Amino acid sequence: MSALPPSPITPTVDFERDGVQHGFLRLPYSRDDSAWGSVMIPICVICNGEGPTALLTGGNHGDEYEGPLALYELARTLDPKDVTGTVIIVPAMNYPAFRAGSRTSPIDKGNMNRSFPGRPDGSVTEKIADYFQRELLPRADIVFDFHSGGKTLDFVPFCAAHTLLDKEQEKKAFAAVEAFAAPFSMRMTEIDTDGMYDTAAEQMGKVFVTTELGGGGTARAETVRIARRGILNVLRHAGIVDGAVEKSQTQWLDMPSGDCFAFAEDEGMIETMIDLGEKVEEGQVVARIHSTGRTGTAPQEIKARMSGLLAARHFPGLVKAGDCVAVLAVEVD
Ligand code: ZN
Repeated sequence: MSALPPSPITPTVDFERDGVQHGFLRLPYSRDDSAWGSVMIPICVICNGEGPTALLTGGNHGDEYEGPLALYELARTLDPKDVTGTVIIVPAMNYPAFRAGSRTSPIDKGNMNRSFPGRPDGSVTEKIADYFQRELLPRADIVFDFHSGGKTLDFVPFCAAHTLLDKEQEKKAFAAVEAFAAPFSMRMTEIDTDGMYDTAAEQMGKVFVTTELGGGGTARAETVRIARRGILNVLRHAGIVDGAVEKSQTQWLDMPSGDCFAFAEDEGMIETMIDLGEKVEEGQVVARIHSTGRTGTAPQEIKARMSGLLAARHFPGLVKAGDCVAVLAVEVD
C-alpha cells in the first residue's frame, strides 16, 4: 500500500503545550467567495503534564446540540489546574454542517459518521475525517463523541457503548458509560457500522463512548444538564479531572437484535401510539402512518417486533418510505 499524503489541515494549537489553548484546525478550501480561503474548525487543548488524553467531540452531525452546548462551555471553564493529562475538545466536528444546522455538510453532503477513515485528498468532510483518523485518534486514550437525534429523531437520554470482541476494551467503555450517569445507559447496536467514527476509534483499541441525548434539531434544559454533568463525570472517572464522579440513577438498556428498529414502508403522516420511555409488548402498534392523498384509507400500522420500551422515535410529523419510525430497547439489570 502506498503511503498517504500528509493531511492538508494545519492546527494552530500545540498538543504538547501545558495550559489552555483556543485555536483552530485550518483546512484550505478554495471557493467563489474566498479564493485562498479555509474552513476554521474550533479546537481547544487543555493540558497539564503527564497523564491520559481525552478526545471530546460534538457536532459530528451538525443538527445535534447537547454536545456543542456542553463542550463550548467545558472549553471556556475547565481549569488546567484541575487536569492531569490532556483534554482535546472539538465542539463542532463537522463544522460546515454545524454552521448550516444540517446533519451533513452543505459543501459535499458528507455525513461525518459515514466518512471514516477519510482521505487527505478527498472532499472537505473526508479531509476532516482523515485528520481525526491519523492525527487526533492516535493521541487519545478515551474518545467521547456526543450525538442526539437531530432534526428527524428524538431519543430517551442515554449514554452508550458497543459490544466488542475485546472484552477488556468493552468493560472499560461500559464503565465510562456508567460514570456518565445519564438516565439510561445503552448496550448499543448499529444499523450500519461502515465509515463510523465509533468503528475507527474502536478498531484502534480506544475506549469509545457516545450518547443519544434527545433530538428534534434542538436541545432541552434537562438534556443539556445531563450532557454537562456527564462529560465531567467521564473525565473524573478517567482520572483526568480532579474530584469524585457525581452519581445518579441509570437504567441499563440493550438492543439485542435488528428487531429493535422499525421502518416506514409508505409515506404519510405519522401518529405515534406510545411516547418515549413507555413500555411496549411484541405485536403492539407503536405508530400509525396515515396516507393523506385521499380520505377513506386505513392507516398503515407499525407493530413492535419485540417487547421493550420506546428508546427513539421519528420526530417530524411526516414520514417517507424507509424512514426509521421507532427504536425499541430492552431493560436489563
Ligand atoms: Zn448524530
